[in-house]
Amino acid sequence: MLTDLKLVVRLQEIDLRLADLSREITALPKHIAEIEKKLGSHERKLEADRAALAGNQKERKQCEAEIQIQEQKISKLKDQMLQAKTNEQYRAFQHEIEFCEKEIRKSEDRILELMSESEPLDKNVKAAEAALKAERAQVESEKQEARARTAVDEKAAAELQQERAGMVAQIAPPHYQLYEKARKARRGIGVAEAVAGRCSACQMALRPQFAQELKRGDKVMSCESCQRILYYNPPQSFEDLASQAAPAVQQ
Ligand SMILES: [Zn+2]
Repeated sequence: MLTDLKLVVRLQEIDLRLADLSREITALPKHIAEIEKKLGSHERKLEADRAALAGNQKERKQCEAEIQIQEQKISKLKDQMLQAKTNEQYRAFQHEIEFCEKEIRKSEDRILELMSESEPLDKNVKAAEAALKAERAQVESEKQEARARTAVDEKAAAELQQERAGMVAQIAPPHYQLYEKARKARRGIGVAEAVAGRCSACQMALRPQFAQELKRGDKVMSCESCQRILYYNPPQSFEDLASQAAPAVQQ
């Protein structure tokens, strides 16, 4: 195979790897943002449950205070009742006491309601606190992993870019331009193998004369349909395989 063709094929491998790395480098912050957003919504849910629980407990205290106030009123009224001079006065005190007792029962009923509401809230808060603790640790470890992964990816990308630049310098500029033009126009794939008389990328059948010229392998040719540089892999001889055991393109 022509040296330029070998270089272009290797260049394609590097460019695909670079595209993968770049995809991963951009995907990682998105993933982190997603898991942080989920964590945030769980934290807000917990805050809401905590606030509901606090509101519940506050109201219960108010009810208990109210009961105390009414009980004090009753005991005062009972004292006053002893001093009643007429039946009318007596009944009036009795009436007031009944009113206070009714208020006490209302508060007691409300306390029972609040207790039955607080039980599931309390359970929710405790469960959410435990789950959030685990989730926070998970998010933190994924963030650290992403940071480490990104650093590795960036280093690998920089090394590949360096290797790429070295190879580009060795390729005849018109051949490199052919590759770049096809790669940019064809979703990152600028070179394709010719298999069984077809371009393996666009599946267009090659004209017989074109296929013959391509098999001779003495010039760089582009697919007449998709413009990708085509290469033809002849059945490999033992010598070819042996020479490929060493890094093929780094000369
Ligand atoms: Zn093609």
